[in-house]
Amino acid sequence: MHHVVIIGSGPAGLTAAIYAARANLSPLLIEGLQAGGQLTTTTEVENYPGFEHGIQGPELMKVMRAQAERFGTEFLTGDVSAVDLRQRPFTITVEEDRTIKAGALIIATGASAIHIGLPNESRLTGHGVSTCATCDGFFFRNKELIVVGGGDSAMEEANFLTKFATKVSVIHRRDKLRASKIMQDRAMKNDKIAFVWNSVVEDITGDQVVTGVRLRNVVTGKTQDLPCAGVFVAIGHSPNTGLFKGQVEMDAKGYILTHNGTATNVPGVFAAGDVQDARYRQAITAAGSGCMAAIDAERFLEASER
Ligand code: NAP
Repeated sequence: MHHVVIIGSGPAGLTAAIYAARANLSPLLIEGLQAGGQLTTTTEVENYPGFEHGIQGPELMKVMRAQAERFGTEFLTGDVSAVDLRQRPFTITVEEDRTIKAGALIIATGASAIHIGLPNESRLTGHGVSTCATCDGFFFRNKELIVVGGGDSAMEEANFLTKFATKVSVIHRRDKLRASKIMQDRAMKNDKIAFVWNSVVEDITGDQVVTGVRLRNVVTGKTQDLPCAGVFVAIGHSPNTGLFKGQVEMDAKGYILTHNGTATNVPGVFAAGDVQDARYRQAITAAGSGCMAAIDAERFLEASER
């Protein structure tokens, strides 16, 4: 039995752990088999306050974890296989055989960028392939880039990347964008943005770093090679909420709905970070909501004891 159990070990989960541990709640943090969240797949993080010269994503997660540990957070490594939130204490099953009881639960399981699914895409991630223009755009000054996708994220990423790149080609699989009108207009008016319609990325080329893409026109079947230094994949994110379906209220895309801070519809269950945020998705906003969730959990436990 634990006062507070946190599921997830990205910035939201680890910040929640630091706050809960310092509030003497002896939190247990369950870190998945791929601990550290999305930041472990990025290189340099330059926009996390407190690091004047930037910090490598994996290093940032390492120091956050050490900080949480220093105040007494207990860590358990393993994937959560089931949760039962119908009654308190909540039951959390790890790797199908270990059962944990929690007085309060903080869900910080994050989201995963949807990938195209090409072998060279995963091989070159961090070496020219990215799913976050805010994180990595800066490294592509005076380069030609492509953005894959036709939604708001793709338009936003393309616009943002024109601050650095000489040219950004948006590759979209249809001849109409999904993005909102205002975002479309902004992208269309930007001289540095070109559109390649009805096309999909068939392969990403490059030995050590990205040097280009092979595109296939889905109408004509023709292929073309387009040289570029970076490929930004913006075809959506998917929150990691499969475990909680049917137990916690979510929106149509599976993001957990929070109200009044980080509370979910289940009293005693809180959600922090990308799992409840389709909008900002930054390490610092995730950390901020992790802090909120720990404070909310502490107040909930105090009130329920009273
Ligand atoms: P989205 O709206 O789901 O758009 C995904 C885009 O990627 C679509 O154009 C889709 O093509 C394309 N796509 C999906 N799978 C693909 C694949 N396998 N290969 C190639 N293309 C693929 O996702 P999003 O743009 O991330 O936006 C998510 C939500 O956040 C939306 O509600 C959006 O409005 C919101 N958002 C808002 C802002 C803002 O207002 N500033 C910024 C970012 C996001 P199809 O069009 O053919 O389906």
